[in-house]
Amino acid sequence: MRKKIVAGNWKMNKNLAETGELIAEIKRSFNNPSKANIIIAPTFTNLYYAFEEFKGLEITVAAQNMHHAENGAFTGEISADMLKSIGIETVILGHSERRAYFGENDEVLAKKVNTALKHDMTIIFCFGEELQDRKGEHHFSVVENQLKNGLFHIDANQWSNVVLAYEPVWAIGTGETASPEQAQEMHAFIRSAIAKAYNDSIADEVSILYGGSVKPTNAEEIFAKPDVDGGLIGGAALDAESFEAIASAI
Ligand code: PEP
Repeated sequence: MRKKIVAGNWKMNKNLAETGELIAEIKRSFNNPSKANIIIAPTFTNLYYAFEEFKGLEITVAAQNMHHAENGAFTGEISADMLKSIGIETVILGHSERRAYFGENDEVLAKKVNTALKHDMTIIFCFGEELQDRKGEHHFSVVENQLKNGLFHIDANQWSNVVLAYEPVWAIGTGETASPEQAQEMHAFIRSAIAKAYNDSIADEVSILYGGSVKPTNAEEIFAKPDVDGGLIGGAALDAESFEAIASAI
């Protein structure tokens, strides 16, 4: 059975004190075990602190990015080994903001995927079309190419370390959400692309999250779709009550 997952991407928000406050609120709100696996991705400087704070609770702390090299002259970057050495086993790769503002293309992402998997990390691989792709009705081919170029080179046995996050760029941080039908249509397409490139059982087992302005008011109808296995949440993850309400909508 596929895992249900609700992941919060805090992006470049919350200093150390604010991180402490939000974690305390989350601990208060999530006093019942959730039906979903909960993942939280704070900023790098607060990762270790968050990891220590959530220890013993069923909340996984993830990084928002990492470099593909093992180490070396890459000023400002963070390696897989550094993450693993502080207990971080999960990393978000290919977020649209990394693709748009930091020049991360499919080729770089394929390298990051390889390094993360080599270190036995779980990756949350993000992808999704831009507004002009959807308007031009080539959103399916854009998504398929992102998957083919960034991910479909991995071995079949590595898929157990992969979570997918379909995030239409036009819906991220814009308040505009894909309709539950649009999300379902794309998630079913993604599963069929995986079945074609690998096999039915891998396609069936991989969790595919939807991301893009998920809120307490729309989470339930999106999560109710059969191929949507949870969400990657940005803005609404910065408020413990909203994040809890979204996680409860699974
Ligand atoms: C995201 O950052 O992955 C995201 C989906 O953001 P938001 O929920 O704010 O649209």
